[in-house]
Amino acid sequence: MNILLLGSGGREHAFAWKIVQSTGCTQLYVAPGNAGTEDIAINVKLSITDFDAIRDFIVSKNIGLVVVGPEEPLVKGIVDYLQNQPETATTPVVGPSQLGATLEGSKDFSKRFMQRNNVPTAAYETFTAAQLDAGLAYLEKQNLPIVLKADGLAAGKGVLICSTLEDAKASLKEMLLDKKFGEASAKVVIEEFLTGIELSVFVATDGKNYKILPEAKDYKRIGEGDTGLNTGGMGAVSPVIFADEAFMTKVEELVVKPTVEGLAKENIPYKGFLFIGLMNNNGEPHVIEYNVRMGDPETEAVLPRIESDFLALLHGIGTGTLDSYELKISSDYAATVVMVSGGYPGSYEKGKIISLPDTIIGTEIFHAGTAKNEHGELVNQGGRVLAVTGRGENLQEALSNAFTTVKEINWDQAYYRKDIGMDILNLM
Ligand code: AMP
Repeated sequence: MNILLLGSGGREHAFAWKIVQSTGCTQLYVAPGNAGTEDIAINVKLSITDFDAIRDFIVSKNIGLVVVGPEEPLVKGIVDYLQNQPETATTPVVGPSQLGATLEGSKDFSKRFMQRNNVPTAAYETFTAAQLDAGLAYLEKQNLPIVLKADGLAAGKGVLICSTLEDAKASLKEMLLDKKFGEASAKVVIEEFLTGIELSVFVATDGKNYKILPEAKDYKRIGEGDTGLNTGGMGAVSPVIFADEAFMTKVEELVVKPTVEGLAKENIPYKGFLFIGLMNNNGEPHVIEYNVRMGDPETEAVLPRIESDFLALLHGIGTGTLDSYELKISSDYAATVVMVSGGYPGSYEKGKIISLPDTIIGTEIFHAGTAKNEHGELVNQGGRVLAVTGRGENLQEALSNAFTTVKEINWDQAYYRKDIGMDILNLM
């Protein structure tokens, strides 16, 4: 089968790395891909939001499965578009419908979905600019800290945790009146602050059946000890020690089942991955958010632990036959350390030559913001550059493998967090 994978991050390199290991893969195309996917697949210069061009490519290359990595084309409706075109109507696609993608595209929509389907989540109310006075009055009655969320997609920046009432009121005004996050904050969800330990659970679903993939914990802040600005993600580990069997059973019963049943009951077509951001509060799960795709860098820690055929999993999702798929997960640990360009998440210099080690042990190097320069040398092209995943029988060994490789990778101004996974090691 020929496969088209959309995206260009570390997540897509990890997907590509898994897909080409499958005997079912004839040719993998990645659009637009990066320097890592170029080594194992054919990169195609297609924009992931140019749906007409994607349709034409699917036809010309006889693509049998389309896999959508990032949220943007999903929220813009790529799945509905391809299904409504005569040429691609029967091509299986891994990714939810536009309505399904609204679970990520609108926080208000996802909170209402959770409420209707009795999925445990923080108490909340939603306000528009016209309801500013009601929003300010609501804030006065809440406990602190309080969480303000832009309703729409805001590149991961639309969540503010306010520790004083003055800050909360000022932030609400900035979001609603001054459009702090543009149209994304035309509506604001005001939400109760949840305490506990955060983790991410990943579900593959064809809209009726589901498989729970390995859980992961990610590290969002740029600085060690979880300090400084938020990033796309500086690292991830899987499994997560505090997600024991009793907790994961609760997650399945209280969160995953009602979510998948809710999608089916409400006729929301959903064939794809669902990323559930959870707070574990004394063993009780509460949903912080849904994302409608795999996380990055969590994917780079989760996928290496899947032992069963990954392409068959994708095919089961896309064709609605996930019930017959047998998921096998390794008991190994995986730890991913993300190497970024110095200055990220602010401005940074591009085009620095990256040197990679000749041999690596117990590690995979996934490319994110990489490219080749005019001399064919590997250079940094984005903020997050490489995701280095170490594996081992325990977390210590996985981390040690990851950091050994990271230390052998060099470019001018490379930066990474040295404390990935340390909080979990301290819990053990
Ligand atoms: P989100 O974009 O909804 O994932 O929010 C970004 C981050 O803000 C989350 O990963 C949490 O660390 C934090 N956060 C969001 N909502 C809450 C909440 N209700 N209580 C505590 N922390 C939250």
